[in-house]
Amino acid sequence: MTLPAPFTHALRQLLGPENVADAPETLVCYSLDAMNEPAPEGPELVVFPPDEAAVAGVMALCQRFRIPVTPRGAGVGMTGGCVPACGGIVMAMTRLNRILEIDSDNLVAVVEPGVVTQHLQDAVKPLGLFYPPDPASANTSTLGGNVAECAGGLSAVKYGVTKHYVLGARFVLPDGTLCAAGGKMVKNVVGYDLLGLLVGSEGTLAVITQLTLKLLPLPEVRRTLLVAFASVEEAGAAVAGIIRARIVPTALELMDRPSIRAVEDVLHYGIPTDAEALLLVEIDGKPGDVEADFLRLLEQVKARGGHIALEAADAAQRERIWEFRRTISPAITRLKSLKINEDIVVPRSEMPRILRRIEEIAARFQVAVVCYGHAGDGNLHVNLLAERQDRDEVKRALDAVEEIFKASVALGGAISGEHGIGLAKKRYIRYNLSPEVLALTRRIKQAFDPAGILNPGKIFPDEP
Ligand SMILES: Cc1cc2nc3c(=O)[nH]c(=O)nc-3n(C[C@H](O)[C@H](O)[C@H](O)COP(=O)(O)OP(=O)(O)OC[C@H]3O[C@@H](n4cnc5c(N)ncnc54)[C@H](O)[C@@H]3O)c2cc1C
Repeated sequence: MTLPAPFTHALRQLLGPENVADAPETLVCYSLDAMNEPAPEGPELVVFPPDEAAVAGVMALCQRFRIPVTPRGAGVGMTGGCVPACGGIVMAMTRLNRILEIDSDNLVAVVEPGVVTQHLQDAVKPLGLFYPPDPASANTSTLGGNVAECAGGLSAVKYGVTKHYVLGARFVLPDGTLCAAGGKMVKNVVGYDLLGLLVGSEGTLAVITQLTLKLLPLPEVRRTLLVAFASVEEAGAAVAGIIRARIVPTALELMDRPSIRAVEDVLHYGIPTDAEALLLVEIDGKPGDVEADFLRLLEQVKARGGHIALEAADAAQRERIWEFRRTISPAITRLKSLKINEDIVVPRSEMPRILRRIEEIAARFQVAVVCYGHAGDGNLHVNLLAERQDRDEVKRALDAVEEIFKASVALGGAISGEHGIGLAKKRYIRYNLSPEVLALTRRIKQAFDPAGILNPGKIFPDEP
């Protein structure tokens, strides 16, 4: 697709040349995300609107010329959501990056979508507050990208995911119309839940230009530990046992031996690499409650043969443990040239069974699998590794992915817990959505975007 000259002329006039990029190296960078599969054509232009009015202007222009627009935050999505599948322009939201207000009377923050997740955390911490949805990518991801993907995070077991923290939004429809929903209220049932629709819509319904987010008071104390197990299944059984015992840790993260080794090879933190699995457990709250939960949690862990490998003695050690966890995803990209990162989710009681099924599938297809993730949510990152040039190995890995999806759905689970569908999983969406639900979803997309210009090619299996 070649962009019509009157369109590019009008775009440059609207935004100013400093907010429009067409250098080949820029186009390459904006043609992919953390899935690492570039769009065949890439974008023809990348625009950086400086404010909401510019976003509305760009959308109105694109609607008039029927130009595809792909919104983009930091580009660390895992399913190709911000990859321009049908050419056109990429709209990078990174210049709308102001924290507009921190209202500590109402425990809310009003932000632009390009604010980096961690920057909000850093800004509210001195006020004794925090924003709970904390994806492992928080140092780079944007809040707009988090909302568009309904990102989960490392403390979702206790605090929930992004959708539980979005109180209000301003957004621009594909034809340039500016809308608003919600506000600073914690309750609001006027009309349909448009915020609920926007959260997790993967940039296919509207472009988010402002967010009102709920904050919580920081917990008084935290205990953070690594618990070692002799098998991944025992670690999975401990997760199910902890939940069954009505203990709600802040975080309950699983790492299998290959992921522990991969990170230790990079960071050299002295984390024990002989365990078959580690659980990173964090408990927070009031001192007495944390102590009581800690003792009950130990009982569950010991009953499955686990033992404490390391407990953080101070904030610096806690940060090192968390850095270890956050480094897994980048560290395992070093193991083979292709990493297919899936994020299935099952009811938490099914954790031991899904781990056993994954082991069986890996053995049957003779493919290397690295497993880690938010076990306390039943959400596992199953990484299938292959060498890109080995077509047979790649095929076996892809076949194994499909079997893992089937196993997850058979156990009452889903093909994605937090990464979304994007390009990567649209051919599997029917495993979770019936034809009727898929048709209804499509009608919702058409109501927002009748011309089909906003992030086309995503989510729906029969899109090009
Ligand atoms: C190392 C690593 C760790 C990760 N850990 C986690 C984790 O723990 N939990 C988790 O949930 N995810 C995780 N992810 C995935 C990823 O970080 C999240 O999906 C994140 O929300 C993406 O944010 P982003 O700003 O990079 O969005 P992008 O990748 O740029 O875009 C994601 C989607 O959002 C849309 N979008 C972006 N901005 C807007 C906007 N303003 N309006 C409308 N649509 C918009 C895009 O069109 C796209 O569909 C991880 C990724 C990496 C690389």
